[in-house]
Amino acid sequence: MSRTKNKGQNSYLELKSDERNSLVDAMGESQFRTQQINNWIYEHHVRSWDEMENLPQVLREKLNDTLLLHPLEIIHISGSETEPTRKFLFKTQDGHNIESVFMHDGDRTTVCISSQVGCAVDCKFCATASMGFIKNLSAGEIVDQVIHLQRESKSRITNVVFMGMGEPFLNYRRVIESAKTLNETMGFGARRITISTAGIVPRIKQFADENHQFKLAISLNAIDENRRKKIMPLTNTHPLETLLESARYYYEKTRRFITFEYVLLEGINDSPEDGKRLIGLLKALPYKVNVIPYNEIGGEFHRPAERTIHIFLQSLKNAPFTVTVRWSKGTDIDAGCGQLAVRTVA
Ligand code: SAH
Repeated sequence: MSRTKNKGQNSYLELKSDERNSLVDAMGESQFRTQQINNWIYEHHVRSWDEMENLPQVLREKLNDTLLLHPLEIIHISGSETEPTRKFLFKTQDGHNIESVFMHDGDRTTVCISSQVGCAVDCKFCATASMGFIKNLSAGEIVDQVIHLQRESKSRITNVVFMGMGEPFLNYRRVIESAKTLNETMGFGARRITISTAGIVPRIKQFADENHQFKLAISLNAIDENRRKKIMPLTNTHPLETLLESARYYYEKTRRFITFEYVLLEGINDSPEDGKRLIGLLKALPYKVNVIPYNEIGGEFHRPAERTIHIFLQSLKNAPFTVTVRWSKGTDIDAGCGQLAVRTVA
């Protein structure tokens, strides 16, 4: 637990490796202590400095008096430890709330994490949009979600998806930094970390140029410019054609498949003709498509009837790309895709 007297202070997780070493050095200890501390945090997911048993008591006390360990504090957990889906509500040091979701299914345990408080992208069907943009999360705040979720769960997390609150590619530098920590320090394979973007074209190209190994997902959600503009106004800045061109660029540079997410909205993009046009739009390259039947958030959009969903999926049967369906988990606790929104600022 964070100590209230340290409120607003930096946390250890925010420090770069050389800053961690200097800190330990300034406390009169040798640098292998940094390795021990990191091990307690990233391998054992401890809550407090006090739990770091192999550190001298005096060092633990100094650390305790100097800085916070975790930048995030758990405020609430929806669902019990035995349930397959749980939603975590966190508070940042500056008093904002964010959410992360834990999903367990067979031998796969996925956590869905947030990259921003609120979101500036304003997708008309997404609950997070209603919060507006509040702030970017730091790399430490992003990684801390995974550390807390791992400690609070029995099964080992296998996959991390940047599909919670926020637009990861509008917080590009910190998202990449946090994904690198998950990969290099916490041991998650790069192909088990997925970054999902609403379609920030220059960042897709940058991501390709920098040759990151993390998986890329793009929220397509519509098959023509006009309809996409209506539900995802960022299409005015990043037109569909430019977006698809950046996806092609990514594939040509990296030879890695992109997953296109397609949120299925009643009467908007769910007809068999839409399915056929989706095939036409994407057929040039080996993509994957992930269809997400809409999770209701009480607004103007609706989830298509079960039959409509099946007819739509049927229309993709002969698609030259792989099609998967995400029957979102946790909609009963508002933990499904696009249902994350918190209004309370403590
Ligand atoms: N901003 C990023 C990541 C967050 S949204 C992005 O747009 O990709 C993660 C996924 O959930 C996106 O594919 C988005 O289109 C989808 N989504 C948003 N609201 C939804 C809702 N209410 N029901 C189902 N999926 C939703």
